[in-house]
Amino acid sequence: MAETKSYLIKSAQVVLTMDDDRRELAAHDVRIKNGVISEIGLGLIAESDEEVVAARGCVVTPGLVNTHHHLYQTLTRAVPGGQDALLFGWLKTLYPIWARFGPEEMYVSAQVGLAELALSGCTLTSDHLYLYPNGSRLDDTIAAAQSVGMRFHPTRGAMSIGESDGGLPPDGLVEREADILNDAIRLIDTHHDPSEGSMVRVGVAPCSPFSVSRDLMRDAALLARDKRVMLHTHLAENEEDIAYSLANFGCRPGQYAEELGWVGEDVWHAHCVKLDDSEIALFARTKTGVAHCPCSNCRLGSGIAPIRPMRDAGVNVGLGVDGSASNDAGNLVLEARQAMLLQRVARGADAMSAREALEIATRGGAQVLGRADCGQIAVGMRADIAIWDVSGIESAGSWDPAALLLAGPTVVRDLFVEGRQIVRAGQITSIDLGAAIARQNRMAQVLAS
Ligand SMILES: [Zn+2]
Repeated sequence: MAETKSYLIKSAQVVLTMDDDRRELAAHDVRIKNGVISEIGLGLIAESDEEVVAARGCVVTPGLVNTHHHLYQTLTRAVPGGQDALLFGWLKTLYPIWARFGPEEMYVSAQVGLAELALSGCTLTSDHLYLYPNGSRLDDTIAAAQSVGMRFHPTRGAMSIGESDGGLPPDGLVEREADILNDAIRLIDTHHDPSEGSMVRVGVAPCSPFSVSRDLMRDAALLARDKRVMLHTHLAENEEDIAYSLANFGCRPGQYAEELGWVGEDVWHAHCVKLDDSEIALFARTKTGVAHCPCSNCRLGSGIAPIRPMRDAGVNVGLGVDGSASNDAGNLVLEARQAMLLQRVARGADAMSAREALEIATRGGAQVLGRADCGQIAVGMRADIAIWDVSGIESAGSWDPAALLLAGPTVVRDLFVEGRQIVRAGQITSIDLGAAIARQNRMAQVLAS
């Protein structure tokens, strides 16, 4: 990795810090040194080794955090048979296509998905890869994240119950449970870095209660605790999901999770659209995190997650774009806007402010992913910073440029991850994005033929 430069972000119109006091600092400067935010103040003088980044007319925020994704799905966007299906039908359409993927498809789709996230202000993302056809490995996506320069929390997903055992996925896409656990151990030992400022943390993530056994859920939790890594899965996504849980496990998803050790501050669950009051209380009590994916929930008609009651109860909530086959975009700032709008649909115009939705997208996500070193602009925090140009048409006439999600750009101007600039003037600097997109489109054509 190249040596980290020092930067002075100068004269921001406002810095939305998301710090403990949620300070909004007008005309402030932010200094970045050795990958960390070293100083915040008025009228700071640039040092000789610093590059000055002029931020007049810009809103500066912490980098956005994406807590749920399936990056490989950027290769299967808008697949006709899956465009209008509910979750289970959608999966059954896509499984046979995903079964043809290999390492190259995993690498390129992740690279494009990560670049798309970066352009929308994201500096830290998790990923959930739960199928490994034709020699694919989680390592393929980690290499992609390193090429883009994204802070990355990949999770070793898995499916073990195929159609012939009453599960949803085809038998060819499921793995033996012993192999799954052994590969998770290999990945943690090879890639997981628990230190402050870490660029890669690996999690353990059986796909969902309806695609793995009770034993694997329990063993995954034991392994994660033994290795001190986080646990992730899909939970309570829609009514079909609840019905499956009641029919097969005799309880609701929250109870099932609790019984198997799947609650705690080292666990986060995607969706949770259908959590009831007792499950919300359980998640709050145990500090279990939620990855809210509003666009995917709309796209698949799953419902409106009770984010207002979750936040009021004290549940840690982050935001996720979910896989690119169920969104089908991967724009995290638009996802934050959607989160704000969707709570209002269910609960009225005062149910969620633009600032609160942005807080969920930054500080909230960092908390869900166990990153006390990210998600805010404060001295000592990692230098993960997004700069939004609010001098353009999207913000023209805005009385409150800090209300970015009401009237603001949907592409970031500049983006820093661990003090390295990976977006400059709205362009990815770390990879040849045009070449990656062309490669991806060629792969999509082959898969569609
Ligand atoms: Zn998902």
